[in-house]
Amino acid sequence: MRYTFAPSKIVCVGRNYRAHAKELGNEVPAEPLLFLKPPSAVIGHGESIVLPRESARVEHEGELAVVIGRRARRVRVEDAPSIIAGYAVANDVTARDLQRKDVQFTRGKGFDTFCPLGPELVVERPSPDAAITVKVNGASRQHGHLRDMVFSIDVLVAFISDVMTLEPGDVILTGTPEGVGPLSPGDTVEVSIDSVGTLVNTVRAEG
Ligand code: ZN
Repeated sequence: MRYTFAPSKIVCVGRNYRAHAKELGNEVPAEPLLFLKPPSAVIGHGESIVLPRESARVEHEGELAVVIGRRARRVRVEDAPSIIAGYAVANDVTARDLQRKDVQFTRGKGFDTFCPLGPELVVERPSPDAAITVKVNGASRQHGHLRDMVFSIDVLVAFISDVMTLEPGDVILTGTPEGVGPLSPGDTVEVSIDSVGTLVNTVRAEG
């Protein structure tokens, strides 16, 4: 189904796949590590990721997006499925150099176009065995399975809702598997999740 992504907030989870935490030299956190991306970062399927002039190292992070369907606060883990509208594919585009330089992730994760979402909203939850893959110009970069998440979808929804009221349309990005890498002008980046879809975006330098 066609869907326009218009979240009031995008809540992201860092280091939610062991192998990715390790590749960046980090430990797996004891609790979900949360940060926000602004709604102004959202672009759709087929739109261009713009590499900002402030960064020399912008990377892809293919992720499963969870879209909230109902206003909720302090949701129990077992009730989490009842507030989810569906699922989509996301790319948590990251200016890695700025993320490392700043204490907060806001700048490194927050540039315009840094949250591709799509290609559509899929109601049925993907299997834990679903593969998540990222290709750049057809070459494989990231590969993992949803079952490798440290904190499950329902645990994340409950945990986040203990902090902030979730609104219809809000998006949760559930973390990325290993294999993150740089994007260059002219690249085409494809993020695929079995049964959810393939999100394709091109990459260009800021004009
Ligand atoms: Zn991420």
